[in-house]
Amino acid sequence: MELYIHIPFCVRKCKYCDFLSMTADEETRERYVKALMGEIAYYGRHMEKKDRILETVYFGGGTPTVIGARNLIHILDCIKKCFQVKDGCEITVELNPATIDGEGLKELHKGGVNRLSIGLQSAHNEELRLLGRIHSYEDFLEVFGKAREAGFDNINVDLISALPGQSVGDYQDSLQKVMRLKPEHISAYSLILEEGTPFYNTYVNHPELLPDEETDREMYHLTKKVLKEAGYERYEISNYAKPGFESKHNSGYWKRVPYLGTGLGASSFMEGKRFKNGTNLKEYLQNWEKEDGNIVHEDRFDEFYALSRQDEMAEYMYLGLRMSRGVSIKGFFKCFGKGLFDIYGRELIKLEKEGLLLVDEEGDRVYLTDFGMDVSNYVFERFL
Ligand code: SF4
Repeated sequence: MELYIHIPFCVRKCKYCDFLSMTADEETRERYVKALMGEIAYYGRHMEKKDRILETVYFGGGTPTVIGARNLIHILDCIKKCFQVKDGCEITVELNPATIDGEGLKELHKGGVNRLSIGLQSAHNEELRLLGRIHSYEDFLEVFGKAREAGFDNINVDLISALPGQSVGDYQDSLQKVMRLKPEHISAYSLILEEGTPFYNTYVNHPELLPDEETDREMYHLTKKVLKEAGYERYEISNYAKPGFESKHNSGYWKRVPYLGTGLGASSFMEGKRFKNGTNLKEYLQNWEKEDGNIVHEDRFDEFYALSRQDEMAEYMYLGLRMSRGVSIKGFFKCFGKGLFDIYGRELIKLEKEGLLLVDEEGDRVYLTDFGMDVSNYVFERFL
């Protein structure tokens, strides 16, 4: 099983961001840490021992490092008490470069964190300012160096392309600056205008201020080419890793490994059910910070639904095909007791004819071609 811990706090809201994140004073942050440990302990008490074995732990946000390294390790220690953390468990912390120093990084490493995911987004300070990021490229360089000094040998860097006013040359420069540091993993996404964000309000009516579709595609193809030449393998549509450094946690989502999400608004997938914690911070705190561990708000989920067989099969396809290795034909039969081609034969043959999909020579896996990956949304719609 995988465990996700959501820390919903940030120093300031970035202008493009629609994640569940907010600013909060220190007292609220401390209360949240206590509540989170209450929720973790609750699952530790109520889940069967065989289900409490963790392959990965992921602190995401928000900005997890806003609560401080000490608190993150405190939560990790609580997890170790309530769950069985397997040997070799991947333990990731997302961080914003302006929210941690060398001492904090040493504390995280010493406390058992073995992977970092650093939100850089761009190596150009004027682009970072435009995005509303609180850090500079120099802050990132310092944190990256300190992370290496602290002993981290598995680091992801996030980048965003197609930023307002960005040229292909600007983006290429960011990409190359990051590559020179040789992180083990790079996540590269195109900017998406999310409704309700300042970016959406500014740019939805002024698309001429954003790179056009052709430039966006050029940046996308450049990412693939440059990273491939530098020895990164594209193992998912937007994720690239040096051999052996694919994110186990994120791969688990695409392979439909069960996961428990704890913290405000966190999503879970267990025993064929998907559920999502509520997003009201006051209620979350009331629910979980009580010493006796009794839940105040029984209706603490915003969503709770069991997937139908058909939903599960569709998920198996559109999540699995995100990965370059695609989906296993035998795995499908093992999961559903039905042949993949018996269920999706018509769609698969059509996609194969269109040059979007292939079956490997052993006849065990179905995966997207490079072109299929480029138009993945079109492919996924076939399974919905
Ligand atoms: S740091 Fe991340 S989570 Fe926080 S506001 Fe910025 S993009 Fe959103």
